Parts: sequence; structure tokens; C-alpha cells
Amino acid sequence: MDSIKYILPEKDMPTSWYNIQADLPVPLPPYLHPVTKQVIGPGDLAPLFAMELIKQEVSQERFIDIPEEVQKIYRQFRPSPLYRARRLEQALDTPAHIYYKLEDVSPAGSHKPNSAIPQAYYNMKEGIKRLTTETGAGQWGSSLALACNYFDIELKVYMVKVSYNQKPYRRMMMETWGATCVPSPSPDTNSGRAALAADPNNMGSLGLAISEAVEDAMQRDDTHYTLGSVLNHVLMHQTIIGQECQKQMEMAGEYPDVVIACVGGGSNFGGIALPFVYDKLRKDTKTRVLAVEPSSCPSLTKGLYAYDYGDEAGMAPITKMFTLGSHFMPPPVHAGGLRYHGMSPIISHLHKLGIIEARAVNQLATFEAGITFARTEGIISAPETNHAIRAAIDEAIKCRETGEKKVILFNHSGHGYFDMTAYNTYLLGDLSDYEYPAEKVKEAQSFMPQV
Ligand SMILES: *Cc1c(COP(=O)(O)O)cnc(C)c1O
Repeated sequence: MDSIKYILPEKDMPTSWYNIQADLPVPLPPYLHPVTKQVIGPGDLAPLFAMELIKQEVSQERFIDIPEEVQKIYRQFRPSPLYRARRLEQALDTPAHIYYKLEDVSPAGSHKPNSAIPQAYYNMKEGIKRLTTETGAGQWGSSLALACNYFDIELKVYMVKVSYNQKPYRRMMMETWGATCVPSPSPDTNSGRAALAADPNNMGSLGLAISEAVEDAMQRDDTHYTLGSVLNHVLMHQTIIGQECQKQMEMAGEYPDVVIACVGGGSNFGGIALPFVYDKLRKDTKTRVLAVEPSSCPSLTKGLYAYDYGDEAGMAPITKMFTLGSHFMPPPVHAGGLRYHGMSPIISHLHKLGIIEARAVNQLATFEAGITFARTEGIISAPETNHAIRAAIDEAIKCRETGEKKVILFNHSGHGYFDMTAYNTYLLGDLSDYEYPAEKVKEAQSFMPQV
């Protein structure tokens, strides 16, 4: 029988996360303090993050145990299935074998609970009663609302205003799980008030929402801040995806020639790819690892590799990363989760070292791929996920032309049920492409810290 799904039994779910810092050929550049520009120590981060998460951020241990209570909640939806896209292969008439890991199966509909759950757990363990965070399209906010609900933590989410207005259902999910969600810029913080004073119609950005959430957390002893992507510990929590894939690919009797995921801050990409990068570094496998970003916000392919602020107001740590500048306002593409000016330090570092590849794709081409996927595999994907699907289809078409029987694996980061307005716009023929003007990156330099 030709299998479609590879289901890993609960008892075979990985019990530790993989930390790539143990295997990097060159260590990561350190974080710097946003004011003093000196290397940051754990004490500087303690007002913001749980100590266990700070330890994970800099840990050099290869594997870190997943706490029993986190595993228990993971098992509500994990292991997630690995699919062979046989109907898509047929439609493309490709000799390639295409596999996708379905992360839509979490209650929030994406991979993000993989990190939201441990982040809420460690904060609860350390006596924290309240968390703050930012959210773009609402995926992270809803995932953290789910997690905080399990551990009885109060949550305040600063949601980028343009999405708050466009995507009310994500806000309603957060409220259903018991969180509070306000549009950013909000009148509740100094950064929000300053932005509103300068422009009452400011529609917000992730960088600004981060400033608000950080400022809120700094002001209360019972409150910490959490970030849904970018940071090392977030990518590490997501590696359960790739570790499950390794076992499932073995069940299928194959090994991927190329591993693909979309990148916003880099967490779902890191999640599926880093365990395979381990194989590349330690077992000399030749797998290509491909990060796909939007042409409208192309930090890896057009950004500068520089120390930059993680947020607009310059309160978050300064990070060496590929960046378009902390004041960059990405155009209003529908892939809200890919509209961040920077990139995870780990992904930036691996790209700089030439261990991973990056590619930018334009919005129309991603929706075209999403429609093909919906009409073959049946699944309606998040606009972010459509970036990965686009690249997987392009790789499969190349195989049709060369006759190569490559094994392609991509991460299906989430479903698109709350993005039907975007699909409608595409179907009406009204969707636009946005190309980032490469010369713009020079302007961004003027806002970067002098270090
Ligand atoms: C948030 C999100 C992304 C982008 O975030 P990463 O941290 O880069 O993974 C991609 N896909 C979905 C469905 C998301 O919700």
C-alpha cells in the first residue's frame, strides 16, 4: 500500500529539544545591552525572562530535557503527522517525492504552541503571575493565550493595529482562552503614546508592539515578557518538529535531499531544519536547507548582517542578525507572521556561514502555490506557509525537468482558516506583489546602533 501519512506513536515522541549551539563551527556573537552597548549578562535579562529560559538561551548542552508537564500538553496534539503529498506530486508530474509536516494540528492551528507551552510553564514555575507579548497576525498571541490558560497565568497581548482590525477572529480566540488583547500602538505605554502622538493613524508594526510589551513587563515585578520567535530558546523548543520528522522519514524509508520552511523570525524553519543541520555538520549529509521569505520583507536575501535593535524603541537587546532596520515598516502583505525587520541570530549565523540557503518569493506566486496545494492535498494553508509550498513546488518542477528523484521535505507551519479574506482577494484578481527596493537598506543604517 502507498502510505499517505506517517504517524509516530505518542510513546516515540522525542523527550528532549536539540540545541544547535553545541555544534556550531563558530560560536554565536553575543547580545549587547541596548543602552550601554556592552555584552549582556543573565542579570540584564532577568527582569524580562524566566531564568530557565535565559539559561537555555546561552546553553551549550546539545540536548535539554522536555519537562514532564510540557510533554503531557504536547501529547494533546503531538507527534504531528508527516504526509506524503502524492496528489500534489501527481498534479506536478514530478519524479520528486514531496513530504510535509503538518503543524496545523495544534489547537491554535500552527507550530507556535511548541514554544508557548514551555515558556508559560517555566514562568509559572518561577512564580510569575502575568505575561506580556506582541503579536502580528495573531498566531503567537493565540498560542500563548492557550498556554497561559493551561498554567493559570494572566496574559496581555499587544496586537499590531492593522491586524487587530483585519483579523478579529484571532483576538476572539485569545479572549476565549482568557487573555486580554489591545491594538498597538496603544495608550497603555510610553512607546505607544509617543507613536500615537506623532501619528494618530499609526497602524503599528511588530517592532513597535515589542517595545510596548517589553515596557509593560519592565514596570511590574509579577510580569515577564515572552517572544514567539527569533530567540535561541524559541528555535530550540521548535526542534521537536525536525526530530519527529527524522523518525517519520525513517518510517517512510527515505532521507530528505532538501528541507524547506518559510521564515519570519525563523522559529518554524529552525524547528524543522536544525536537526537536519546537525546531520550535515556531524554526519556530513548533503541535504540542502532552504529558508523562504517574502520579497516585501527580505531580511536574509537583501538585509545587512549587522548589530541592530530588535524593536523600534530600542529597548530590546541588540542582536547581530540580517536586518532591514528596526524602523522598517513592511508593506501590508497577508503573511503577517513574516513581516519582521530582523531574523533569528542562529538562522542569520548559519546563513552567513553558508550552511543554509535563502530565497525570496513574491506574494502572488505564494497564493498561486497555496491554491494548487488546496486543490490537490485539500488543505488551505496560512499565507506564511504558502511561501514554503511555493519553494517546494519549484524544487519539484526542477526535478521534472532534470528527471531527478529528489526527496523534498517542507514544514506546513499552519492553516489559513482565518485568512480567507486574503484568498478572496487573490481569487478576485486584486492581490498585489511588493518588491523591497534594495537601495532602501542604506537608509536603515542610520537607525542602527553604533557598536
Ligand atoms: C508565525 C508564523 C510563521 C512565521 O514565524 P517563524 O518564527 O519564522 O516560524 C510562519 N507560519 C505560521 C503559520 C505562523 O503562524
